[in-house]
Amino acid sequence: MLTLGAATIERIVDIDPFRFGLTQIFPDASLEALEDARAWLEPHSLDFATGQVLLGVQSHLLRIGGLTILVDTCVGECKPRPRRPDWHERRDTGYLDRLAAAGVRPEDVDVVMCTHLHADHAGWNTRLENGRWVPTFPRARYVMGRAELDHWTAEEARAPGEANHGLFADSVKPVVEAGLAEPVEEGFELTAGLSLIALPGHTPGQMGLSLKHPGGTAIFCGDALHSPVQLRRPDWSSAFCTDPVQAALTRRAMLEQAEGSGGMILPVHLRGATGFRPERVGDHWRPVYL
Ligand SMILES: [Zn+2]
Repeated sequence: MLTLGAATIERIVDIDPFRFGLTQIFPDASLEALEDARAWLEPHSLDFATGQVLLGVQSHLLRIGGLTILVDTCVGECKPRPRRPDWHERRDTGYLDRLAAAGVRPEDVDVVMCTHLHADHAGWNTRLENGRWVPTFPRARYVMGRAELDHWTAEEARAPGEANHGLFADSVKPVVEAGLAEPVEEGFELTAGLSLIALPGHTPGQMGLSLKHPGGTAIFCGDALHSPVQLRRPDWSSAFCTDPVQAALTRRAMLEQAEGSGGMILPVHLRGATGFRPERVGDHWRPVYL
């Protein structure tokens, strides 16, 4: 557990590891360009022998000011995702048991914060109950960027059941229909010192969550950064970014700001750590894991 002033943060893992070929996830990448970072990319983040990037999929459980907040809800269970075998019809994942081990029942969650509405970030928004998708966290406000929700609502209308592997239909729409979705703008404050920030590029409306604490700022960054590979090459955006150029600008600005202010970055896809502090090495960074 990470304690930052009055806040505590724990990681609740849904999948580890999840693998991509290096150029499958980072189209501009090459192993040669990462050779001088091999000592800290292996074995956790990159397997040089197979050229595979290893990702985790984790939620962050944040407790602050009497609030229990779950940031991003990973892939979920029972969801039909035939184009992603690792995500398809998962059963008995233990995710809710790990949440319970952290002292949190689904009804204890006050806020679910969705950085963006990709299928590996909002899957546990709902669960299957008697053949229907119902909100997993029945008391929670599901906070998400208004532009993000509007974008995927329009995509769903254009091709029903298709948006993000079907995520909108089974994991977003039921939350909206239950009256639990709370679309918000940049700057929205969940409690003192905890507010949403725009992290554009990966999706049209991706938001991060910024926590100010006595030692600096911690950013729950969604997919503004997928892998420590991008500390060595912050210019490499993922194949899943809708605006790769903007995504790279957002990533570099986030890293520069964190470096200058003792800041921490908490990505969903980090393995084996809650987050990291970026430490400057020439024109790039390396992680100091938390
Ligand atoms: Zn994403």
